[in-house]
Amino acid sequence: MVSCKKLAQSLSAYMDGNLDHELCCEIEKHLSVCRRCSVLLDSVRKVLIVSGDERTFELPMGNEDRLHAFLSSRM
Ligand SMILES: [Zn+2]
Repeated sequence: MVSCKKLAQSLSAYMDGNLDHELCCEIEKHLSVCRRCSVLLDSVRKVLIVSGDERTFELPMGNEDRLHAFLSSRM
């Protein structure tokens, strides 16, 4: 099984789908048993979602209510 340290190092490649299948399976195994790392993955994902939206999400003017609804649905 991969260590927590190895997992943290491979995390971004894992999320990009750039890992070979074997390592990917090892990481998923680790995540299913290691609470600390699954929490870490969760919070990294949230950060990526938020920053991804900032880059790609163009809000039409006057849609602040929708933005707020969108943001509160993420919290
Ligand atoms: Zn771990």
